[in-house]
Amino acid sequence: MRVLLVEDDRMIGEVLAQTLKDAKYAVDWVRDGQTALNTLESQVYGVVLLDLGLPKKDGLEVLRSIRAKDNPVPVLVITARDTLDDRIRGLDGGADDYVLKPFEMTELLARMRAVVRRKGGVAGPVLSNGVISLDPVTREVNFNGQPTRLSGREFSLLQALMVRPGAILSRSDLEDRIYGWNEEVESNAVEFLIHSLRKKLGSNVIKNVRGVGWMVSKEK
Ligand code: CA
Repeated sequence: MRVLLVEDDRMIGEVLAQTLKDAKYAVDWVRDGQTALNTLESQVYGVVLLDLGLPKKDGLEVLRSIRAKDNPVPVLVITARDTLDDRIRGLDGGADDYVLKPFEMTELLARMRAVVRRKGGVAGPVLSNGVISLDPVTREVNFNGQPTRLSGREFSLLQALMVRPGAILSRSDLEDRIYGWNEEVESNAVEFLIHSLRKKLGSNVIKNVRGVGWMVSKEK
């Protein structure tokens, strides 16, 4: 999954970016509010981690602009401003949750998964279509009840499709959800991943809709 990290503090940003990469997220890191908004105009993210104290446009302004444009991306605010007032203002402005600095990385990752899950409209923590189940927390995948090992990218691609079984995602939708900016994407990377997923999960699991994209079938 792709994450937009908006943080002006270099040290915090570096630690966060590395932690997220280690957790297999594709991370794009911007350091001011205006760049964050420009980026969100053209790119699709699974979640935004947003600092509040930012140059050019502060985090609350960024949040209001995101929501004013009806962008539904989950936003997790990271802030040192530990006051009730700010919390309320942030949530009114459309933040999905808060993490207060200083925080444990494990807490941040858990909250990220929780906001993504809530926004995906999935009640339980495990994504399932009746044949495949995928746990975003433990990263376990079961196919017909059998545990299956996937690479980080295979997992990201399958997760993108499993958020809404039956929904078709195009090649660029999938690339946007799997790769970060500074990553070179081979033209056939998505096909390659789908090919290897089909080898592991059977050829019928991911359906190709010719000229449109791919989907996993809905629960039967
Ligand atoms: Ca800051």
